[in-house]
Amino acid sequence: MLRTSWVSVLGNAFLSLLKIVTGIISGSLAVLSDGLDSASDVFTSIIILIATPIINRPPNAKYVYGQEKAENIASTILSFVIFFMGCQILVASLTKIMRHTVTEVSLIAVWATVISIAGKLLLALFQFQQGKRINSSMLKANAINMRNDVIISAGVLLGLGCTFLFKMPILDPIIATLISLYVIYSAIGIFKDANLVLMDGVKDTSVYNEIIKAAEKVPGAYNPHRIRSRHVGNMYNIVLDIEVDGNLPLAEAHRIAQNVEDSIKQSIDNVYDIVVHIEPEGFVHEAEKYGMSKDNL
Ligand SMILES: [Zn+2]
Repeated sequence: MLRTSWVSVLGNAFLSLLKIVTGIISGSLAVLSDGLDSASDVFTSIIILIATPIINRPPNAKYVYGQEKAENIASTILSFVIFFMGCQILVASLTKIMRHTVTEVSLIAVWATVISIAGKLLLALFQFQQGKRINSSMLKANAINMRNDVIISAGVLLGLGCTFLFKMPILDPIIATLISLYVIYSAIGIFKDANLVLMDGVKDTSVYNEIIKAAEKVPGAYNPHRIRSRHVGNMYNIVLDIEVDGNLPLAEAHRIAQNVEDSIKQSIDNVYDIVVHIEPEGFVHEAEKYGMSKDNL
């Protein structure tokens, strides 16, 4: 896992540097922005490598839920870096287009892009195979991200081809503009994903239906409600109320609550922790501020 990450970091760093330098020398904004987009992948991989030991720290008195959210904080910071990088390319390309300062692009831009596409394909293939072998979703996601990079580079190549064939140097900053918009869009996506976790949201609200179904399967457990879930890493931390027959002995009621926990763990894959609160059947709450139930789903 660590070895694969380092291969990816070094391979991407080389390709990104190649494109940034070539972009500057050849005067191709599209190649430069492609290089900056690859640089953002390098930063992402490095942040994952740095955050991993923090994420893996066992829970302690200060952080009883562990420290997995370090990853989301890192991603948030990263999203700002990528966002401003995207804005920078956008401003540079638009300036070039509007001031008509479009210059001829030299041929080495084409070679750098071809090398970059070949290199990325090899890296993506390597990552995807490793990801399949150890079934790491993070590595697989990374491989998909690299595929998108190949698409970007292919677009750059197409633009460069047209530039040389049809003598239309304006295409270069136009493609750079499109890439910058993609970079900004992905930065916003990273920010939203990270903040959903930091703000105690759930990615997929259908989890509440799963919880209700799992709880109702248990004999003696009624009316699951005030269900709250949030993420610890990619796992669910779940709290819910159930009702049981008010005349049951405590040991029996507790056994039902335990069964509810087991049933939820069986139907949902990544459960970090479940807390079940028991109430006598028909118990009426004061106004409930939080949580999901059949009524509000
Ligand atoms: Zn309740």
